[in-house]
Amino acid sequence: MTKNQVLEAITRNDWTLKEINQLSHLVRVLTWNKHHEIRFKVPKGSPDVHTDHCCIVHGCKFGDDDCSVFTQKKRQEFDCEECIAEIEQG
Ligand SMILES: [Zn+2]
Ligand SMILES: [Zn+2]
Repeated sequence: MTKNQVLEAITRNDWTLKEINQLSHLVRVLTWNKHHEIRFKVPKGSPDVHTDHCCIVHGCKFGDDDCSVFTQKKRQEFDCEECIAEIEQG
């Protein structure tokens, strides 16, 4: 689905289920790209328990407010399972 088709569908207010699914997939892909874009902007830093487990999008897996990954002090060093699951369910 192209951007123009999306805009056209919004204008007609006439969404098919297929279009809605495509759009939600598109949103997920964009989220995924955004996730990686943020991730690579964050400095590497020395690895710690957060860089191995936490996600810049899904937050700290230990519920730590000062998580080095979520606060963007350090780059996460893995692809978060929740992120992958969201893309695959797309
Ligand atoms: Zn954390
Ligand atoms: Zn994630």
